[in-house]
Amino acid sequence: MSHMSRAEWETRANALDIEGRAFIDGRYVPARSGATFDCISPIDGRLLGAVASCDGADADLAVASARSAFDSGVWSRLAPAKRKAVMLRFADLLEAHSEELALLETLDMGKPISDALAVDLPGSIDSIRWCGEAIDKIYDEVAATAPDQLGLVTREPVGVVAVIVPWNFPLMMASWKLGPALATGNSVILKPSERSPLTAVRIAQLALEAGLPAGVLNVLPGYGGTVGKALALHRDVDTLAFTGSTQVAKQLLVYAGESNMKRVWLEAGGKSPNIVFADAPDLQVAAEAAAAAIAFNQGEVCTAGSRLLVQASIKARFVPMVVEALKAWKPGHPLDPETNVGALVDSRHLEGVLQRIQGGQEEGARLLLGGRVALEESGGSYVEPTLFDNVSNGMKIAREEIFGPVLSVIEFDDAEEAVRIANDTPYGLAAAVWTADLSRAHNVARALRAGSVWVNLYDGGDMMAPFGGYKQSGNGRDKSLHAFDKYTEIKATWIQL
Ligand code: NAD
Repeated sequence: MSHMSRAEWETRANALDIEGRAFIDGRYVPARSGATFDCISPIDGRLLGAVASCDGADADLAVASARSAFDSGVWSRLAPAKRKAVMLRFADLLEAHSEELALLETLDMGKPISDALAVDLPGSIDSIRWCGEAIDKIYDEVAATAPDQLGLVTREPVGVVAVIVPWNFPLMMASWKLGPALATGNSVILKPSERSPLTAVRIAQLALEAGLPAGVLNVLPGYGGTVGKALALHRDVDTLAFTGSTQVAKQLLVYAGESNMKRVWLEAGGKSPNIVFADAPDLQVAAEAAAAAIAFNQGEVCTAGSRLLVQASIKARFVPMVVEALKAWKPGHPLDPETNVGALVDSRHLEGVLQRIQGGQEEGARLLLGGRVALEESGGSYVEPTLFDNVSNGMKIAREEIFGPVLSVIEFDDAEEAVRIANDTPYGLAAAVWTADLSRAHNVARALRAGSVWVNLYDGGDMMAPFGGYKQSGNGRDKSLHAFDKYTEIKATWIQL
């Protein structure tokens, strides 16, 4: 938790000098067109500043700068140990600016300052540092050839990488891509969400200070349909690494096919099942985890445990425990260090979440908790954590990603039914299973079609664990050494001796 009071954070917020320009070729510059958009805080509707609204002309400049930096070899052909040193300095600078960056994140997208400090910043710093540390410890391969030949299998950076990220963990999602993309020697163009551009813009300067050469990291704030689309269609972008909705992810595949067949790596949506068996080791722990799985970060989490599958024999006992646990998650002012539920990212998203809640009631689900707007007088976008019982997996609230704190309870009888319901979704990002039976834990974990499975906890793992989706939750993996696959090509060099 933060050591500063709300008043102290507010004083700092008022003193912030917010940078909203694009960062191209090592300098802050306005969009070529001069266009800007207003950056509004969902905490209270306050105007934070004007942010450059980039378009295709800016994309062309940034791609040219990235390409020329790449071709020069100033970063791409630097010894890995030297790239490591820069990455570690970059991580240190992020750490030194943790409070400022956490504050920007909170003001921009409404998450509690305590979470920004405890989750977003450490997660971001760790990705940069871990990938930097790893890069001079990875070896290429020599094939098992006959003695008169030599077969080298080497990894090379792909070239120019466009990174397009969402607003729910703005800096952390960016860092999960920047870590492996930069460590492997690529040049990057980062396009943050128009709903949360501020930390991305800020860290460009820190990367430059750390010694990252001009052109190796460019940041283009702006709308998805303009600058995002321009990057996705660009013929000189080699790889596109995306986190965001499944709908946009599919469109990016089309753009790649329409242009240069750039590699497209997608981390998309989810509707993750959290399966609680009657023999869970501790039902109280499971209930608290089920509440956290939907309320943390206002439910704006791709891996949110939005479908709570409960074994019929414990449902009458377990659901009230979840209701109680969820009551501990209360919307409050995000700069108050005690707050555990902040504002939704903006009023448009709040409207969408309220519509889903109304839809759930119309479909016949039973509203047990929440469902209403909170802190209306604040001028911000807050909603009560919400729980629906008697949900069937065919209902819209069980099928569509809501991306807010709305939990659906679905009943099952046995493991087979639980797995069937859990997998009956277009998504496959994450799943959890609670049981004390070792064989059941393994059997169910194996049967779940999801990129992450957690047993007797929700949302585990750190930089060592690969993260990504099955099915329409995406392809490829962030985090771990597997993430390096996205940003490298494999070359086979065959030599006759
Ligand atoms: P979004 O898809 O609306 O936007 C994501 C990014 O894509 C933004 O930067 C946006 O400007 C850009 N974009 C939009 N249209 C574009 C286009 N036509 N061309 C190029 N770029 C375009 O998603 P969002 O609302 O920002 O984020 C929420 C979504 O992100 C949820 O679905 C959530 O599950 C997903 N998410 C997934 C993960 C994961 O790792 N799998 C992590 C976090 C969030």
